[in-house]
Amino acid sequence: MRRAKIVATIGPASDSEAMLESLIKAGMNVARLNFSHGTHEQHEKRVATIRKVSKNLNVPVGILQDLQGPKIRLGKLAVPLQLEVGEQICMYATQDELPKTSKQLLPVDFRELFDSVQIGDKLLLDDGRLALQVTSAVGRVVEAKVLVGGTLSSHKGINLPGVKLRIAGFTEKDKADLEFGMSQGVDAVAISFVRSADDVRTVREAMVDFAKGKQLPFLIAKLEKPEAMTELEDILDVVDGVMVARGDLGVELPPERVPPLQKHIIHSANARAKLVITATQMLESMIQNPIPTRAEASDVANAIFDGTDAVMLSAETASGDYPSEAVAMMSRIVVEAESHFLQWGSHQDGRAGLGQSDAASMARATNEMAHDPDVSAVAVFTMQGRSAWLMSKARPEKQILAFTPESETYNQLAFLWGVKPHLARYANTLEEMLSGVDAALLASGTMQPGQQVVLVCGYPVGAMRAPNMALLHTVGSESTVNLARNLAENNVRKK
Ligand code: PEP
Repeated sequence: MRRAKIVATIGPASDSEAMLESLIKAGMNVARLNFSHGTHEQHEKRVATIRKVSKNLNVPVGILQDLQGPKIRLGKLAVPLQLEVGEQICMYATQDELPKTSKQLLPVDFRELFDSVQIGDKLLLDDGRLALQVTSAVGRVVEAKVLVGGTLSSHKGINLPGVKLRIAGFTEKDKADLEFGMSQGVDAVAISFVRSADDVRTVREAMVDFAKGKQLPFLIAKLEKPEAMTELEDILDVVDGVMVARGDLGVELPPERVPPLQKHIIHSANARAKLVITATQMLESMIQNPIPTRAEASDVANAIFDGTDAVMLSAETASGDYPSEAVAMMSRIVVEAESHFLQWGSHQDGRAGLGQSDAASMARATNEMAHDPDVSAVAVFTMQGRSAWLMSKARPEKQILAFTPESETYNQLAFLWGVKPHLARYANTLEEMLSGVDAALLASGTMQPGQQVVLVCGYPVGAMRAPNMALLHTVGSESTVNLARNLAENNVRKK
């Protein structure tokens, strides 16, 4: 069984029912919807199709809404522009009138750019393929010299490495997108270009407002700005997880800084029991080819050795020619890497970050019990997913079977390393819990009668408390079910 999860971005190449079915069968656990592109109508249709296919296949799929954040982009160009080295170009705000000039004109859809740039600043376009240097900045018109030329098409990104942008971290567009996403029941929300803990705090506050008392989606900070690196610990205080967003990170900083930062982010997230997703260009060549380069295969494996919870595909599945091949290939690379984890993996002690709580103590104790060669799995009963989360972060040797009666939790569990979610009925007694575990495991063929699981739950069961009990259970054995019945009866008598 694969332990790390696969996040696949859904786009025009992958939003049909047939392709989503193929992606889920190939191993997609989480579908990412990129709100830098597409309309609410398109995303609504995608959410409905993902939910439908996931239900038909009886496989949980988490939906990750990726908010654009303060990303600066070019506006629409009538035709692609060819920029020559040494030439002077003129940038203006899309909302304004065209400046009168003979220079080539670049519209910018983010007028705040003009408040932040100064003469001498460097601008990188289209993931750093083209470079400009500002030679004049007057009001909302900027002139710049082309340092690295090339062809430029509409809506390409603009990065300003080293420039302190006077831009809100959570834009009006993000707010409207978040409200829409939460009305669609997304399971997690990622926010791009986070610079500080305050940026993510604002998103968290908006989420609480929009949730109206319902369970919150996970909040994930995309780490792609140098400022976020110095604020990492404070950001981790606020979020449920982080994404190593290597695409923009490697434009904002030199590419050679990305590998050590990836290790640092994964290590820091694990040390705080936060979720971590490693993203971008993992199997980039599979956008056009049915097999990856060997370097890409190594990159995915190394993210696993670093201890990531999940690996992500972007254009490979959103717009590439081989979406399901990319997911299947990624899954095979992860499984192979995981079979060598003890030898080559990063042996940080995941238990250190669990903190102090009943659930954390149970996760630590269960981790020890799971070393027993007779134990095949850990079974966790969880309402909001918290105990399954801590169990996942304890990185037990055996798979984690998470049982929940809550459909929101069921889909969120799809994000968690090593966790196989099961939708279960409410259990009012330990006896019901054990027979529920047995029925689900035997019916799904996950386990055979006679195999042992460590069951982690809160006792008394109906009290819905955090886990305080771990029980060795032999699947299909009457004796543990009888033991549970006796425990339950004793408990009733005591009351
Ligand atoms: C990235 O830059 O690596 C990233 C994941 O962000 P996006 O795909 O939104 O550019």
